[in-house]
Amino acid sequence: MLDADFFHRWMTTAAAEVSREADHLTDLDSAIGDADHGSNMQRGFAAVTSVLDNEVPQTPGAVLMLAGRQLISTVGGASGPLYGTLLRRTGKALGDAPAVTPEQLAQALGVGVAAVAQLGGAQAGDKTMLDALLPAAEALSTSFTAAREAAEAGALATVPMQARKGRASYLGERSIGHQDPGATSSALLIAALADTAAA
Ligand code: ADP
Ligand code: MG
Ligand code: MG
Repeated sequence: MLDADFFHRWMTTAAAEVSREADHLTDLDSAIGDADHGSNMQRGFAAVTSVLDNEVPQTPGAVLMLAGRQLISTVGGASGPLYGTLLRRTGKALGDAPAVTPEQLAQALGVGVAAVAQLGGAQAGDKTMLDALLPAAEALSTSFTAAREAAEAGALATVPMQARKGRASYLGERSIGHQDPGATSSALLIAALADTAAA
């Protein structure tokens, strides 16, 4: 079973991963965006770890809802509301259980990912974070490792896509040939989940 401490550690691990990869995320965003995705994510997840350390929510759902609220209030730009919605809606779907199964998390993540698609109006193949998140949520019902591999493959698969949502879509065909920053950070979040489960 996955308890509140597991989810807290997931967020802490994600913050470390995002911080380590911040320059890479910003480089990707400089090619097809405005070169702020690394700093957006780093600022957001630093705020998430600090609010979780201060408030120490006691259920998995409460951890993710607080983390999501914090991202929305800390990160301007597209990714703050989108990742904030992902975590809030996933957390809400987990309810107030003190611990959840990996299968319950897989289902809840599916709800969170659907909420991201609804908020941003994007679908698979639009070269966004959804191209990593949709296959990851699907694969999570198999295993954490399968989810990690699906997210990484999904992020790589954005390279030949033309962006249809977000800032990168303004480039039209010139967005082709670059990996999407948000799909890349999504793969980091799922890798952090798999690392937390393996630790
Ligand atoms: P901004 O584009 O406002 O500077 P970021 O650089 O932090 O925000 O995040 C950009 C990422 O957000 C993109 O790489 C993409 O994955 C994701 N994104 C942008 N718009 C959407 C959308 N409508 N739906 C899903 N993801 C989106
Ligand atoms: Mg940007
Ligand atoms: Mg921006």
